[in-house]
Amino acid sequence: MDDLTINTATEISLPAPFLGRHLIDGEWVDGVETFERVSPSHDCVVSVSAKGDEVVTQAAIAAARRAFDAGSWSRISAKERSSVLLKVADLIAANVDRIAVQETLESGKPISQSRGEVGGAADLWRYAASLARTSHGDSHNSLGADMLGVVVKDPIGVVSIITPWNFPFWILSQKLPFALAAGCTVVVKPSEMTPSSTVMMGELLIEAGLPAGVCNIVLGHGQPVGSLLATHKDVDMVTFTGSTAVGKMITEASAGTLKKVSLELGGKNPQVIMPDADLENAADAVTFGVYFNVGQCCNSSSRIIVHEDIAEDFVARVVALSRKVKFGDPMDPDTQVGAIVTADHQRKIDGYVQQAVAAGAKLELGGGALSVDGLGPQFYQPTVISNVMPDMQIAREEVFGPVLTVLTFRTLEEAIALTNDSEYGLSAGIWSNDIHTCLEYARRAEAGTVWTNTWMDGYPELAFGGVKQSGQGREIGRYGYDEFLEVKSLVMRVGRDSRAPWVEASA
Ligand code: NAD
Repeated sequence: MDDLTINTATEISLPAPFLGRHLIDGEWVDGVETFERVSPSHDCVVSVSAKGDEVVTQAAIAAARRAFDAGSWSRISAKERSSVLLKVADLIAANVDRIAVQETLESGKPISQSRGEVGGAADLWRYAASLARTSHGDSHNSLGADMLGVVVKDPIGVVSIITPWNFPFWILSQKLPFALAAGCTVVVKPSEMTPSSTVMMGELLIEAGLPAGVCNIVLGHGQPVGSLLATHKDVDMVTFTGSTAVGKMITEASAGTLKKVSLELGGKNPQVIMPDADLENAADAVTFGVYFNVGQCCNSSSRIIVHEDIAEDFVARVVALSRKVKFGDPMDPDTQVGAIVTADHQRKIDGYVQQAVAAGAKLELGGGALSVDGLGPQFYQPTVISNVMPDMQIAREEVFGPVLTVLTFRTLEEAIALTNDSEYGLSAGIWSNDIHTCLEYARRAEAGTVWTNTWMDGYPELAFGGVKQSGQGREIGRYGYDEFLEVKSLVMRVGRDSRAPWVEASA
């Protein structure tokens, strides 16, 4: 472990634990019970939150239903809605530091990345505001002289938003502004691990003038809060980001009311490295792709597929870079990789690694807990594993940690087959200087996003989502916005009916 780069604990005093309450119908509501979040890096309580039960969840859904049906948001002009969203964007930008510190303390991610996540989210709000004003249906003036058809888009209704712990503020902002732009009302349930930045968002929404009841927040766990949000008859749609296992439970639970379900789930995302690639850039992107957010990232490129002629050289490059990545205190602005979210999750990551080694894979680097002076025990070493076979568990399942597995191939056909030999299909990437190779791969890879000669770039304009067991539906971009709209066709006669009557009145 001596040759790794470790940032030990910084001398800073942490803020007092954040006190989070539910937001119901414009009012902050205490819980009958509370729950605590212990910082994964600093091992102390960093938030105390109201714990949602059935009563408070019912109240939140009822408030969202009332607000939607009253039309105080759903039927006002898009101009008015977008002006609120733009105010929220400005307020996010003005509150980045406060929100980012809390996000780092609860999630363990580096403060520089929390600042980037929160600050960057403002742009999602601005983009959603622009969609509210430019979205429209279409008209059909070609149905005959006495007919006019108009297709309009209506907000879908009350939306449940259920989010995970790995990018709490960003993922909320991939959903909430788009739902609000469309005219929906919502109930949000953040992860029990990272509830506070969602509460802070609630504060900004009130300050921006969002009417009461339009956005309600219930803090708490999957049972009973998330489960009720997925089954309640007054909820029209559930948008969920989280594990594939819980995504399947939500699909089953929602079937009773046939509500719309949009799912952003796990991934086992490959990057293919061709021999003609710019290996320096590719090695840097692979290193970023596996360690960003400690690998606790749906888009983690946890599976690289390298041409066998360059595999040894490429792995050596990635191992050398891995030693330079700065692991350690997430409150240090210089740190690139922080803490693992829970002790249980750390054990799960280590279990995958030890099982792979026992099955014959080769540990090139890391493979165990990382000790960081002055901080808690939840850190894991940068880990690179070669000699991985496609049927090993570590090559097929989402490890969700700083662990890279290396597979090799000989032909592009083999690389494409390995890419698609997965239950998941979130993202994929290829590195090559040959445009034909890149395009062939991009067209045949089974994934919602394919990157060529880059990794993990995203833009509010571009839809995001997965195929196969990585999810259904899309987020952000125009396609993501459309998920929150229902399409209605208006069929209108122009002038008197010139056709013969269906029933002969004089007969
Ligand atoms: P998780 O599935 O454990 O929890 C996600 C949310 O669901 C939490 O708010 C949780 O309280 C809630 N929940 C749990 N049980 C529920 C139930 N029965 N009904 C309703 N809600 C319930 O996921 P996690 O551990 O918080 O997040 C990690 C997972 O999220 C990974 O699999 C990752 O790949 C995935 N993820 C996907 C994307 C994407 O966009 N595709 C983005 C980020 C994370």
